[in-house]
Amino acid sequence: MFFFQSMPVSTYDWWMRAGFVYPSCLAFALIAIFIFGSCWGSFINVCIWRMPRHESVVSAPSHCTVCGTDIRWYDNLPILSYILLRGRCRACHAPYSCRYFVVELVMGLLFCAFFVKAGLTQQVPGVLASGWIMLLFAMAAGWIDAKHRIIPDALTYPAMILGVTAAGFLPEVWGTEKWYAAAALSLASGLIPGAFLGAFALIGEKLAGREVLGWGDVKFIAAAGMLLGLPGAFFTLFIGSFAGSLGGVGCALYRRRPLRRTAIPFGPFLAAGAVLWVFFGNLICRALRG
Ligand SMILES: [Zn+2]
Repeated sequence: MFFFQSMPVSTYDWWMRAGFVYPSCLAFALIAIFIFGSCWGSFINVCIWRMPRHESVVSAPSHCTVCGTDIRWYDNLPILSYILLRGRCRACHAPYSCRYFVVELVMGLLFCAFFVKAGLTQQVPGVLASGWIMLLFAMAAGWIDAKHRIIPDALTYPAMILGVTAAGFLPEVWGTEKWYAAAALSLASGLIPGAFLGAFALIGEKLAGREVLGWGDVKFIAAAGMLLGLPGAFFTLFIGSFAGSLGGVGCALYRRRPLRRTAIPFGPFLAAGAVLWVFFGNLICRALRG
């Protein structure tokens, strides 16, 4: 640990330089972060299953959804347990969805990828916190919406609170030193696109006579704004709408149904837009500034 102390803390790219000087330390950090990310992936799996069923994600211990047996800690290790038990319950041998394995693996990889990327920016802790939260939120919201056509409030409200709180604790990411200014900026960055999309949903509903846009999608954009900022929220909305329209047309053609009777969930497309912004947002900003 000695070199962590000898590194100047004022410059945030210390770990990056440490990684080049001590590759084994970088490898160790990446393994630790992969495990950390896959543990959060495991929690997201619990959210994906329980939130649409209005169950608490914290109170009851993990249990088999078929036979109800509590899952022991050694059968609940992310990725490993799924492989060792070949994706089945130890008690009743019911097969588990491959989602458990996929979400844990993907979150581990995304956490590592974003750790490397954040090391190249100026405000590592703040960027890491809001980026990781956004990745977890996008995974949960996208998956639940794809499966249940709903983005639960139990997901969007905590994401908003975390976004504003992270801004307050690490205001330098928002270009200010005052915690209340950063928190206010974060709040406004969510409320503006949320109000914009909310107005669109209301007007659309009036004109079409049916729901054209779910309120879960509106809250998703508001939460994305509070985590990523105003440009990130509008980018997410733009990419989500564009990709969602393509997806809708593709789906209508594939099912040979008229477009207006083809309903596809918007959430996964919004989630994909937000993930793109997490990884490429600063490059896009720089390109637009010229
Ligand atoms: Zn079981």
